[in-house]
Amino acid sequence: MSNLMARSVVDRTSEKLELFGKIKELAAKKNAVILTHIYQRLEVQRVADFVGDSLMLSKMAQTTNADLIVFCGVHFMAETAKLLSPEKKVLLPDIQSGCPMADMINVDDLKNFKAKYPGAPVVCYVNSSAAVKAESDICCTSTNAIDVVRSLESKDIIFVPDKGLGEWVQYNVPEKKINIYDGFCPTHWQITASEVDKQRIDNPDACIVAHPECDPEVWKRADFVGSTSAIYKFIEESVGKRFIILSEQGLVARIQADFPEKDIFTVFPLPLCPNMKYHSLENLYDAIDQEFTEITIPTDILVKAKATIDRMIEVSDRKKLWTGPVANAYFS
Ligand code: SF4
Repeated sequence: MSNLMARSVVDRTSEKLELFGKIKELAAKKNAVILTHIYQRLEVQRVADFVGDSLMLSKMAQTTNADLIVFCGVHFMAETAKLLSPEKKVLLPDIQSGCPMADMINVDDLKNFKAKYPGAPVVCYVNSSAAVKAESDICCTSTNAIDVVRSLESKDIIFVPDKGLGEWVQYNVPEKKINIYDGFCPTHWQITASEVDKQRIDNPDACIVAHPECDPEVWKRADFVGSTSAIYKFIEESVGKRFIILSEQGLVARIQADFPEKDIFTVFPLPLCPNMKYHSLENLYDAIDQEFTEITIPTDILVKAKATIDRMIEVSDRKKLWTGPVANAYFS
């Protein structure tokens, strides 16, 4: 590295550290809590008060005493925080941060889909708008989707919008008939079955772990399937040393940073969700300072959508059903 380049890296690092301190100071002054999804850039994760997946962050949003919730994630996550803490001001630093999967279904699409399966309750993945949640019966996350579906009396279920997760639930709950909407995560679906087969041949000693948002042809090839938090916990607790993670790059980077003694890698091309990378230290500071962009939800939608999330939390807490990972039986 030339002296000039080395100096510019040092300058950039000290600028970041200074900004990091300013964000912390400003957040304390305004009684703001920073919630950050694990797919965010590492620098944004490092400045956060809490880092986690959507379920963990939803619960934090519900219990915090902060006046301001600053959500570094995508739009539906900030909306979910607002649903759980309607009296609080919830900010999304960069309003461009939407979720393409959540955008694959709107209320009319859901109504049309429901009309095909009269009487079947609707389970909506948390990756959906507040309006779609309001039109559903119960919400779920990738951590508790199996529990939620098992908790319903009906044999016939509607599951929206993610077909990867829907198929994973169907695989684990074969006694029900899950009618699955045709939505998917463009980032997780970049991972192909042939790439996983190649990795298996090239790295026979590595454990392959997959998020259920992947194409079922991909998660069927994994040794372990679980939500973001389940993947993290599985690798943390495993005695294994080599892992191939089939999920978004932010999770991979975080696990690499937290467990340097393990050999963690992923597939090519790198599964990266551009919508998760809009937030930066710079726009985070400005968002707290100027209090933008505030998330608002019409009251009628808020009340109904909140009820679907409350039902989900009640199922998880009351029944104490499955709350951890499910090992993939395909290759065991
Ligand atoms: S990774 Fe997939 S599900 Fe998550 S925000 Fe990006 S597009 Fe949506």
